[in-house]
Amino acid sequence: MDIKITRTKNPKRKPEKGEKLGFGKIFTDHMFIMDYTEGIGWHDARIVPYGEISLEPSAMIFHYGQEMFEGLKAYRGVDGKTRLFRPDMNAKRANSSNERLCIPQIPEEDFVEAIKAVVKVDEDWIPEEEGTSLYIRPFIIATDAFLGVAPSKTYMFIIILAPSGAYYENGLAPVGIWIEDDYVRAVRGGIGYAKTGGNYAASLAAQVKAHDDGYSQVLWLDGVERKYIEEVGAMNIFFKIDGKIVTPMLNGSILPGITRNSVIELCKSMGCEVEERRISVDELVEAAHSGRLEECFGTGTAAVISPVGKLRYKNEVFTINNNEIGDLSQKLYDTITGIQWGKCEDNFNWSVTL
Ligand SMILES: *Cc1c(COP(=O)(O)O)cnc(C)c1O
Repeated sequence: MDIKITRTKNPKRKPEKGEKLGFGKIFTDHMFIMDYTEGIGWHDARIVPYGEISLEPSAMIFHYGQEMFEGLKAYRGVDGKTRLFRPDMNAKRANSSNERLCIPQIPEEDFVEAIKAVVKVDEDWIPEEEGTSLYIRPFIIATDAFLGVAPSKTYMFIIILAPSGAYYENGLAPVGIWIEDDYVRAVRGGIGYAKTGGNYAASLAAQVKAHDDGYSQVLWLDGVERKYIEEVGAMNIFFKIDGKIVTPMLNGSILPGITRNSVIELCKSMGCEVEERRISVDELVEAAHSGRLEECFGTGTAAVISPVGKLRYKNEVFTINNNEIGDLSQKLYDTITGIQWGKCEDNFNWSVTL
């Protein structure tokens, strides 16, 4: 892939050391763009100054939501090197989302090369403080100026970069989760396994309800029977019950998280038993009542491991592990972030150094 680079003539002010970055609010100086045209394929790969893009109001993305996105991070290691975490997995998942949404495939090597190239150009923007990172957001939008319902014939693939603060400003801390038994996020046969805006649009009403009640995220049940555990807002979910690690199996309505996959591989390598299966909310409530629910945590790129200290289902609230971080949660967090920041041995070859 030939990438034309146009550097900005007006570099922005970079956040200073120690400045609060938050998440997804500050963007770097450059972005990657590539166009797709039916009959030609992907073309005009370029890195240009970050800025507005122009689309007709009739562009299909605005009406029927044909789009997909990905999310990963670049880390400034303790040795000063820049690392990506398993970007090949993002490339594969992007194409799985693309296939479901009738968006053309992007060769995996091009997807990863584009990420590396734009991160390289804005490498100075990667923050250095402990826990901070450069969040990478690749996405594809349908751009045909056409109100008919059909796959678009033109697309834009864009990558933007956002220096982001540590997810846990005051260290790893347990969160409260609301088990939603009214709204649903996805159904099998739908788009639940694709990383796409529509799933998030469907999730907002429940999230607002949970936030109003003081819970940080929603845990979704299956869309048909509202009986089986699926996943959290932007995280997959794990339980430790009777010493065994249990997580819902990928069934088509759950997003196949890269952190989820990494946690399963790590647990297995540590000699823990991992069960990927259906788990009903009744089984979970029973395990909580009988004291067999030892730990619960979410997994995702943003937080890596998010210990769950409190679960609410209907009118009952369960406290897990005294609302404290479990040993397994802590160990997984330390191991994965250790690999990401180049502090521990990367036995799985997950890190890609720029
Ligand atoms: C992105 C995402 C996850 C987590 O995936 P990671 O690859 O681990 O970041 C989980 N659930 C949903 C709905 C997501 O969009």
